[in-house]
Amino acid sequence: MKNEELKIRDLDVLWHPCTQMKDHERLPLIPIKKAHGIYLEDFEQKRYIDAISSWWVNLFGHTNEYINKKIKEQLDTLEHVILAGFTHEQVVRLSERLVQLTPEGLDKCFYSDNGSSAVEVALKMSFHAHRNDGITKPLFVSLTNSYHGETIGALSVGDVELYKETYEPLLLQTIQTPVPKDMSIESADEAADLFEDLCKKRADEISAIIIEPLIQGAGYMHMYHPRFVVRLREICDRYNVHLIADEVMVGFGRTGELFACQKAGITPDFLVLSKGLTGGYLPLSVVLTSNDVYAKFYCDYNEHKAFLHSHSYTGNALACAAANATLDIFENEDIIEKNREKAAYMAQKLKAFEGLSNVKEVRQTGMVCAVELKGYSAEERIGLKVYQYGLDHGVLLRPLGHIVYFMPPYIITNDEIDIMMDTAYEAIKQLP
Ligand SMILES: *Cc1c(COP(=O)(O)O)cnc(C)c1O
Repeated sequence: MKNEELKIRDLDVLWHPCTQMKDHERLPLIPIKKAHGIYLEDFEQKRYIDAISSWWVNLFGHTNEYINKKIKEQLDTLEHVILAGFTHEQVVRLSERLVQLTPEGLDKCFYSDNGSSAVEVALKMSFHAHRNDGITKPLFVSLTNSYHGETIGALSVGDVELYKETYEPLLLQTIQTPVPKDMSIESADEAADLFEDLCKKRADEISAIIIEPLIQGAGYMHMYHPRFVVRLREICDRYNVHLIADEVMVGFGRTGELFACQKAGITPDFLVLSKGLTGGYLPLSVVLTSNDVYAKFYCDYNEHKAFLHSHSYTGNALACAAANATLDIFENEDIIEKNREKAAYMAQKLKAFEGLSNVKEVRQTGMVCAVELKGYSAEERIGLKVYQYGLDHGVLLRPLGHIVYFMPPYIITNDEIDIMMDTAYEAIKQLP
């Protein structure tokens, strides 16, 4: 009953993200009453495996006992305080830990409250750092097929047509350089050479290149070799261009290391984190940078070099408590090692998909698996059919176009991986 009532009341007053609302004339909304572990549950006790970690944010399950406890403790102590002129224990601890855990040479943390705004921070900081050096570099480079969020600046460095096309007249001028076309070393080198050619011509205008290391998430789970990131680091150093690593999606263990840059063994000039940062509980994001960049802004007030950027909820104490609890779990439970076993198990299961006639390719990087379908037009909305099949069978899959992917919370068991992937297999097999 409650299910039906909430659907009606919802459509009366809500406008949902990333949704053509008319679809809901036939596609029912799903009210969720509660969630625990990898399961979401509606008001009629129907359960769904959250195979996409609720838009890639959840790491250790819903209503995780430990994270809940830590947030509740914080709630009775300090919920929030202005971060200009003030500080608090959770944000200090979190920053110390992030500096410790991220690649060597990232020494300072600047907070905001979602991935897009953190991307904006990194872009502004990069531009401003060059400016404080006396050089104006008004251009940003990003990769073809990239996604960095949907505020105006973040959208400007993105390249997924679906999100960008309409707003093109509003956006900043940016340049896209080709992403490696597949996961081979050769294509990594090929793409790096093209970026180097661009730098040869225009490096004096380019503040930074922003990338999603190893996996382009919203860009249909496109994956490439770490070698590309290694090469970009060298090129950026040679041409005085910053490297911004947007690890909003790939950070916190998704690729098999805690941070994707560690797979390339490099340190970016700016590291952008959000999504998994709070274990999927609360909005929080952070940009880490070097003491070197920080020093360019550090001077007397009247020199007008300060980074005057602010968000009301910067460094929210509850969100920082959730983030510290999340890092505790990484620390105490050897998650990265356990994920290696789970990733290997998923790799085994993924092979079966290659035998389906409508599968073009399967690919995997760490805890992210993707199955690319072939032979369908966009109008067929094949992803929607897989989504619907999944829901009917108790699994939340949310394909990106014709890419069915798996990005479950890390607490998923092998038995649950079986259900998740077998359901997707059947969903793909029964497609027309
Ligand atoms: C989701 C995402 C963003 C944007 O984060 P929001 O919190 O949704 O604004 C930016 N970059 C990448 C790589 C993302 O996956």
